[in-house]
This record gives sequence, C-alpha cells and structure tokens, in this order.
Amino acid sequence: MTNQKPIVIIIGPQGSGKGTQGKRLAEKLKVPYLETGQLLRDEIARGSDEGLLFASYMNKGDLVPAERVVALMSDKIRNAVTESGGAVIDSFPRNKEQALGFPSDVHPTHVLAIDITEDETIKRLSARRVCLNDKKIYNLISNPPKHDEQCDVCGAKLVQRDDDTPDAIRQRLSVYKQDTEPVLEQYQALGIVHRIDGMPPIDEVAKAVGEIFAE
Ligand code: AMP
Repeated sequence: MTNQKPIVIIIGPQGSGKGTQGKRLAEKLKVPYLETGQLLRDEIARGSDEGLLFASYMNKGDLVPAERVVALMSDKIRNAVTESGGAVIDSFPRNKEQALGFPSDVHPTHVLAIDITEDETIKRLSARRVCLNDKKIYNLISNPPKHDEQCDVCGAKLVQRDDDTPDAIRQRLSVYKQDTEPVLEQYQALGIVHRIDGMPPIDEVAKAVGEIFAE
C-alpha cells in the first residue's frame, strides 16, 4: 500500500475543533478527510435502517457499536490511503475495540490529540450551529454567520445538532474520558502522539497543527 503522505488520526473531546482542524489539515496535505461522525450522520440522513440504529446511539451521546463503525470506516481508510497515499481520519478509533479493528495494513504516522476543558466543551457546543445542506459549522460566539442563524453559503436556516443537548453532551464527555482517552496510550507507545492545545482561536490552533507537518 502506498504510504508517501501522512496518515493522521485526530482525537479530541466534543467541540475541540477536530472537524475544523481536520478539514484544513486534509486540504493542506492534499489527502482525503474522513469524518466518522459525519459519515454516520450521512447514513441517518439517508433514512436507512442502519441510519436509524446509528441515531438511537448518537442522540443519547453513546458510541455506535464498534463492529458497525469498523465496517463503515475500514474500506474508506484503505481506499483513501491506496488512492492518495494518506488520510486525515477524524474520530476513529474511539475505543480499544475499534483500535483492534483498525485496518492492520494501514499504519498511522501521527495522532493529534486536541485538548480543551470541560467548561469550554459545554460553552462551544451550546453555541454550535450547523447547515444541513453544506455541512458548514458555525459558532454563534466565535465564528458567527453573517446573517442571523443563516448559512453564509446557501442561506439555509442553521440548526443545532440533535446530540448537542446538555444530557447528550455530558454523556459524550464521559464516554470520551472512559473509552477514547485510553486509545491514546496505545499510540503513545509508538511515539506518534502530538498534544495540541485546542483553547486558542481557530487560526492559532491551525498554526500549531501546521508546524507538526512543516517540511
Ligand atoms: P462527533 O461528530 O465526532 O462529535 O461524533 C458524534 C457522534 O457520532 C458520537 O457522539 C458518537 O455517537 C458517534 N460516533 C462518532 N465517531 C464514532 C466512532 N468512532 N465510534 C462510535 N461512534 C462514533
């Protein structure tokens, strides 16, 4: 399998900016960006039985069962690496079971762990709004749309994600601490984990991420 470009896993608590930074990094590295949460939400939007099952976990803030996520992500990761030589993978693996299911012929080169405080997670997610048409993400405080709760690109009304409710946020944070942080230990042993402070403004965090990949 070609491996000339970075294969990056991004892990971080909710609202840490994984999606924003992941998309930017993938553009910079010219590799596909694979966002697990969005791929699951796409399936929900298709209205399939599988999507209904995903929603039943996601709306409570729980992880979708590992075998489903491994099945969804494995081929996408292999294809991305085969075709582009690299990938930015947002939020997979998210627990040890998924880490065991990560394609064994794909070797991540970097794991970015973006850190923010619990208070900041709650603050950011309560103000997060998304456009369901073009998936653009806004924050009413730090990255507001030009017109009141309307998408800058298509004008659609912005909405809150179904899992950005206080109960689901609390549950997602607890799952992150209990299930996702232990995954980092495993990659730490390989010496590929880079911890990023996710508290500063978006451009500053992007600069810190960029420095890791500077030639
Ligand atoms: P995110 O968009 O990363 O905040 O993810 C939203 C939700 O999607 C999570 O709370 C989980 O319910 C689900 N999800 C995302 N990634 C995974 C994963 N790797 N394994 C299981 N569920 C996931």
